Amino acid sequence: MAVVISGKELAKSKKIRMAEEVKGFEQAYGRLPHLAVILVGEDPGSVSYVKGKEKACEEVGFINTTIRKPDTISEEELLNIIDSLNKDNLVDGILVQLPLPKHIHSEKVIQAIRKDKDVDGFHFANVASLYLKQPGIVSCTPKGILEILDSISYPIEGKHAVVIGRSNIVGMPVSKLLLDRNATVTICHSRTKDLASITRQADILVAAVGRANFVTADMVKDGAVVIDVGVNRNLETNKLCGDVKFAEVEPKASYITKVPGGVGPMTICCLMENTIECYLKHVKE
Ligand code: NAP
Repeated sequence: MAVVISGKELAKSKKIRMAEEVKGFEQAYGRLPHLAVILVGEDPGSVSYVKGKEKACEEVGFINTTIRKPDTISEEELLNIIDSLNKDNLVDGILVQLPLPKHIHSEKVIQAIRKDKDVDGFHFANVASLYLKQPGIVSCTPKGILEILDSISYPIEGKHAVVIGRSNIVGMPVSKLLLDRNATVTICHSRTKDLASITRQADILVAAVGRANFVTADMVKDGAVVIDVGVNRNLETNKLCGDVKFAEVEPKASYITKVPGGVGPMTICCLMENTIECYLKHVKE
C-alpha cells in the first residue's frame, strides 16, 4: 500500500506559514503583495480555477484583483489591460487565466506580461532562466511537484524519473527540474514506442497526459513514486480524476498523489510563493 501524499494538506500548512510571513510585510515594506488575475469568458473550469486563486490570496493575506472580461474582448483591449497592470507599481503579479478565446493570440498576451510580474513563469525570460539555471520565476505546477517530492524527503539524485508528457507548462519544465536535481530523466510523449516498458523502469513516474485512467498497474514498477498531474472529467461519474488509475496503481506504488487533492493545490500554493518572490523583488528595488 502506498502512502498517499496529500497536496491539499501540504499546501494548507505552507499557506499558514506564508500568511504568518505576509503579516509582517505591511509594517516592513508599507504594503501587501498584490496579485492581479484576468479572466476572459465564463468557461466553468477557468471560473473555478480563478475562484481557487482568489481564495488562496485571501488565506495568505494578499490583495487580489480579478478583472473579468467577456470572451468578445479584443486582443488589443486585453494587451492594454496588461500594459496598465505592468505600469502599476502596486501590482506584483499578473496572471492571465488560460485558455483564451481563439481570436486572441495567447502567446502574445503572455509575453506582454512584465517578466518580473510573470507569476506563472511563462515569459520567455523566465523559461530561459530555468533552462540556463539562472534565477527566475519557475512555473507553478512543476515547482509544486518538486515540493511534493521534497515533502517526503525523497532522494531524487540518481533515480530514474519518467515523465509522460512534454508540454511547455508541465512535462518539459518538470523534466528540467528533476534533471537539475540529478535524476536521470526520460521524457515520453504520444509518439513514444512501447511506453509501458519505459514507465516500468521509473523510480519516479510523473503523468501529465490529460487522459483519464491512462496509467495502469502494469505500467508501474513496484515501489515507484507516482505523481498524477492530470485533471480530467470521468465521463461515467462526472467527477474529476487524474491520469492514473488510482485503485490499481496505489497498491504497487510507495508514494502516490491523488486527483483531486494532489498536484492541484500545490500549483496554487506555488503561485502564492511566486507572488511573494515578485513582491519582495519590487519592494526591495
Ligand atoms: P498537453 O499540453 O495536452 O500535453 C499532454 C502531453 O501528453 C503531450 O506531450 C502529449 O504528447 C502527451 N500524450 C498524449 N497522449 C499520449 C499517449 N498516448 N502516450 C504518451 N503521451 C501522450 O497537456 P498539459 O498542459 O501538459 O497538461 C497535462 C494534464 O495535466 C492535463 O490533464 C491538465 O489538465 C493537467 N494539468 C494540471 C495542473 C494542475 O495544477 N494540477 C496544471 C497543468 C496541467 P505529444 O507532445 O506528442 O502530443
